[in-house]
Amino acid sequence: MSANIVSRLLEHYRLHARRLPWREAAPDPYRVWLSEVMLQQTTVATVTPRFARFVERWPTVEALAGAADAEILAEWAGLGYYARARNLIACAREVAARGGFPEDEAELRELPGLGAYTAAAIAAIAFGRRAVVVDTNVARVVARLFSIARPVAEAKAEIRALVERITPKERAGDFAQAMMDLGATICRSKAPRCGECPLRPDCTAFASGTPEAYPVPKAKRDRPHRFGTAWWIERDGALWLVRRPDKGLLGGMAALPGGEWGDAAPMEPVLATVAHGFTHFTLDLAIVARGEPVGEGWWQPLDTISEAGLPTLFRRAVEAVLAQRRMLFAA
Ligand code: SF4
Repeated sequence: MSANIVSRLLEHYRLHARRLPWREAAPDPYRVWLSEVMLQQTTVATVTPRFARFVERWPTVEALAGAADAEILAEWAGLGYYARARNLIACAREVAARGGFPEDEAELRELPGLGAYTAAAIAAIAFGRRAVVVDTNVARVVARLFSIARPVAEAKAEIRALVERITPKERAGDFAQAMMDLGATICRSKAPRCGECPLRPDCTAFASGTPEAYPVPKAKRDRPHRFGTAWWIERDGALWLVRRPDKGLLGGMAALPGGEWGDAAPMEPVLATVAHGFTHFTLDLAIVARGEPVGEGWWQPLDTISEAGLPTLFRRAVEAVLAQRRMLFAA
């Protein structure tokens, strides 16, 4: 079964591989690493133009390592999950200091921000090492191939062992990318296109007649809700911005100043409110007018606000206030 899976999958990949800017005839570990970090919890469509901008600005890991933190964080703005950007900076500097990426999966795992998946992906794709690469797409394909009737989070060890079993000694990088492509384009979470799938003859979920029933979805938990206040401090067409502390949520990013986020809604009159979803909680952020600047920061002209590197939450907060203002002037 495994040999058939591999040969059918690789042939399908040869004919139908997605054309992605980080895929090249001779993969560059810097580009593989950067793309994998960007793709963690962000879609290919969002990452593609951002990746192009990143590598145009910093074509090598040494160039990235030499850039200022604030420049990199601003370029990252809008991609979310900002701990990734801080790890990216730390990792680039460590790799540049040691003269390049290590080829060995275990050594790759010692770099800042590189978990099991990313280390395996770089080892396989950039260096052709046999490594077991399991991302969400691969896990779904395997859960269906072998009809694993448990949520992926509970079946991690079993799924990993199965991927290990079917990963070939040669062309492990192509195999990993072929599995990822299959999960992204054919064995989709909803409405899998089994009619176009090269693995259909091996797939037990397809044979069951209800492939989309695998893997079993995990039980939903409500995320807690929080409230926060951001201060709108404006003078002569410029807005007072601060940089958030390096540690913690949105660490090191440009932001509107404001108070702690907690359980109580603010009582002050608000200019606008934006709702935002983080991984572990949802937030209502109220934007409240204030007179005097607070904390260390800078005046950012409103007509260049898009260059401030604001993360999505604060960019939306600014847009909400400006939209309110336009409505008032139009009324
Ligand atoms: S046959 Fe269908 S369910 Fe099975 S791997 Fe292919 S697309 Fe996924």
